[in-house]
Amino acid sequence: MQGFPKRVAENILPLSVAGTLPAAFREWYFTGQTVDHELPHETCRLCDQEGLRYHFKIQNSQTGNQLDVGSECILKFQVAIFDRGRELTAQEARTALAERVRLMRLESCLRALERLALAESNDILSNALKYYKLHKALTPKFANVVFWRLQANAIDHDPSFFKVRLDKESYVADLRVMPTRSVHRIWKALTSPQRKKAQELGHAAPTE
Ligand SMILES: [Zn+2]
Repeated sequence: MQGFPKRVAENILPLSVAGTLPAAFREWYFTGQTVDHELPHETCRLCDQEGLRYHFKIQNSQTGNQLDVGSECILKFQVAIFDRGRELTAQEARTALAERVRLMRLESCLRALERLALAESNDILSNALKYYKLHKALTPKFANVVFWRLQANAIDHDPSFFKVRLDKESYVADLRVMPTRSVHRIWKALTSPQRKKAQELGHAAPTE
């Protein structure tokens, strides 16, 4: 059992048929189910690591037992991930789990926007929500109002999870005339090329 932390063995062996590692791991697979706990307060049930925001559910194919674990443990212990019956390679598994996190971030933004639209009866905010559902991104103007009001209402959100569109001339024009303090408010949601664009339009980067 060398190479495997004692706590990992203690957590997984009682739920498996095989009595040793790594054999027991071959009975397990990722079910495709994930949970976003919103705050990094959860524990990996395999390695006991704390500070997790996302749980990934794994299941034993023989006993049916389940465990909520971190994505790093799935990769580290090579828990199988299947896509339409085919087991993914290590590289594919990493990409697939990263994609799951991307989707959970998208959903987290959506929940924050829905909470905000409920907290304040305001046409701009309900239109921003509609726009986000359609485009999976915000315009610079929507982002400015949304981040301002999310902060004002103390609604938990991560600005870097949002995306901002600058692919139309009107959006670039809006960004140009925006007060620089507003540009700074949406800065974390901008990509590197978008930040460069903002600077070309005359907005200094925020000093941190
Ligand atoms: Zn773990």
